[in-house]
Amino acid sequence: MRYVMLWLLCCALPAHARDAFTLAGVSVDAGTQASFLVEAAGTQVPITVVHGANDGVVLTLTAGVHGDEFPSIFALQRLREQLDPSQVSGTVILVHLANLAGFHGRRIALNPRDEKNLNREFPGDAAGTATEQLADFFTTEIIAVTDYLIDLHSGSAYQTLLPHAYSPVLHDAALDARTLAFARAAGLEHIVLYDERPNDPANSISYPNTAQTRGKPALTLEIGHLGQRDEVSITRVIEACRRALLHLGLVPGTAPPASNPRLYQRLTYAQSPVTGLFHPESQVGAEVQQGQRLGVVTDYFGEPLADIQAPATGTLLMLLETPAVSAGETPVTVGVPVP
Ligand SMILES: [Zn+2]
Repeated sequence: MRYVMLWLLCCALPAHARDAFTLAGVSVDAGTQASFLVEAAGTQVPITVVHGANDGVVLTLTAGVHGDEFPSIFALQRLREQLDPSQVSGTVILVHLANLAGFHGRRIALNPRDEKNLNREFPGDAAGTATEQLADFFTTEIIAVTDYLIDLHSGSAYQTLLPHAYSPVLHDAALDARTLAFARAAGLEHIVLYDERPNDPANSISYPNTAQTRGKPALTLEIGHLGQRDEVSITRVIEACRRALLHLGLVPGTAPPASNPRLYQRLTYAQSPVTGLFHPESQVGAEVQQGQRLGVVTDYFGEPLADIQAPATGTLLMLLETPAVSAGETPVTVGVPVP
């Protein structure tokens, strides 16, 4: 009986017209897309909304939280061209460059307006510094309307990096499982199960952690490095995003099988005890043994001061590739695999 009544109700209603999607005061009709600059936190944020003709989830892809990490900026420009709103089920938000001041200031990770790292200032503060205001914009205007988030990064301008994903672990079994399935779907071969962020939504620190603490699966993808915008990395970013779109049913087609990645339980860092010039003796992707020498720091005359050793047995994920190193910095990052 219940089913009969539901059927009658459906037939009595007019055909469902999908509502427009509103982001930061901009309304985008179903089956269309719009690109616009949002005035926020004393700067501009370039955004494209692809509001599909059909119902579905909302996915946000963000590039340029760190202004010296370029492949994903170009990848999102190409995705903007490739996505056809008439074929999309759901909504795709492309944040083309989250930290415009850092990008134009050619800064490594920081925002020159207040020397803060956007990815450490979440959930932000509408009355705070420039970066805190920007974080607040992303929390209240972007994360609030999204169901899934991918924050796209690269190694910094001084660093080489093995492409990998962070699948945050909040020790919420259902959310963690959805997030890891999302990470596997994106297809990267190395996934770090990152559990070093708080569960407190009022102190969520990073962009993905802010989404996670609000119940939304969120990943960080790290692809590319050394301030480059190489085609290999751009293509890898597009491929990962397209796999995510298929996984979430946002575009038609069959998602390729989830990858069988190597999972890492944590990251370990080798700290330089001295200031000088770093000379790497290994490369990202290498399998290293705890205590193995991975480089040496010399003084300004070229005399050796200290060896840098692998802090654990695992995979070398990130490596300082330019010579300047200061005492306390970490030129080597090793991922420790899940046993
Ligand atoms: Zn970054």
